[in-house]
Amino acid sequence: MKLAQRVGRISPSPTLRITAEAKAMAARGVDVIDFASGEPDLDTPLPVKDAGIAAIRSGFTKYTAAGGTDELKQAVLDKLKRDQGLSYDKSQVLISSGAKHSLYNLAQAFIEAGDEVIIPAPYWVSYPDQVLLNDGTPVIVQTEEATGFHLTGALLERHVTPRSKAVIVNSPGNPTGAAYDRKTLEGIAEVALRHGLLIISDEIYEKLLYDGLMHVSIASLGPEVQARTVVVNGVSKAYSMTGWRIGYAAGPKDLIAAMTTVQSQSTSNPTSISQKAAVAALNGGDAFIKELVTEFDRRRRYMVEGLNKIPGIRCAMPKGAFYAFPHVGQLLGRRAPDGPLASATALAGYLLKEARTALVPGEAFGAPEYLRFSYATGMQNIAAGLDRIDAAVRRLS
Ligand code: PMP
Ligand code: GLU
Repeated sequence: MKLAQRVGRISPSPTLRITAEAKAMAARGVDVIDFASGEPDLDTPLPVKDAGIAAIRSGFTKYTAAGGTDELKQAVLDKLKRDQGLSYDKSQVLISSGAKHSLYNLAQAFIEAGDEVIIPAPYWVSYPDQVLLNDGTPVIVQTEEATGFHLTGALLERHVTPRSKAVIVNSPGNPTGAAYDRKTLEGIAEVALRHGLLIISDEIYEKLLYDGLMHVSIASLGPEVQARTVVVNGVSKAYSMTGWRIGYAAGPKDLIAAMTTVQSQSTSNPTSISQKAAVAALNGGDAFIKELVTEFDRRRRYMVEGLNKIPGIRCAMPKGAFYAFPHVGQLLGRRAPDGPLASATALAGYLLKEARTALVPGEAFGAPEYLRFSYATGMQNIAAGLDRIDAAVRRLS
């Protein structure tokens, strides 16, 4: 069948694909340890579930406004005011079926052929593909581990062209756990404003920061920056609600209106039931998040320490999110029984087969000498998985 050309430019989300493979192996009875999943393993908080059940029981099961309910928009406005000191009007908020969906609506409403979107690497897998699906050109800017995998104003400046339309900032970041400080964000904002770029700020890991670090939203740097920024966030990570599919965007009114129109002609509203649950999550206080952060912090230290004990693996301490992102360059080229491991993808394949541990190779994130390990899994799994990997690595010649 002759498919649309745009589909040929993209590939299935590697994070979702590898996670599905690991789950399928487990369902076949294979004892596989999943370090690939990008979702918290803790259950959704009970009051949030109860709000979903109450929505079903009370018959809140019909279409809502395409861009989301007023009640949830108000909860988002209150959250942005409370946490970031940001004021928006309801007309500046869109509720979507996940942050990924908000980002996609944004790409549809804003990007056209020839437009360049500046994406710092290592990047989350969907940024370049969403740009490509909308005929835009992703401009990948390599950032360095030695400088905390940060985009800076100077680095951004070097990649701006007359076709640049937007820059993506993801702090705390997937897959590196990088967290931008205020000064770095000010540098990026200054360059973006000077060149008239839209700043796309993906803040989905906002609540997952360690060692007392505080999240800074680039939009909070001042009214001029806020006017050129779309903040994207959601309830998936902070409230362990990945399956409920609620995310949101807040930004310039005309852009949000266009994104809402796109959504009204594609998916309509996000699930009514999930919207009620998301209101309960956002208005329910931070007790669950505190529990999540404490648990993830313990696992983060344990995993990074364990990874650093494996010969050939070097892992920096991530500042946020729930991923460890070790450098494995020294293992590339080493020999497995089936031949040399020429790439991180080959190494990940070897570890899946020989150590029965699923992880995502760095190529998926534009970082071919790295592997991504999610520590959103139990301590026992982390301990067993690291032992298996250590043994498998020691078998390489
Ligand atoms: N941004 C980043 C950086 C992510 O890791 C994810 C995880 N899927 C998302 C956005 C989208 O999350 P969701 O669609 O579940 O809200
Ligand atoms: N964001 C998560 C990850 O990076 C979930 C999967 C996805 O949507 O890509 O693994």
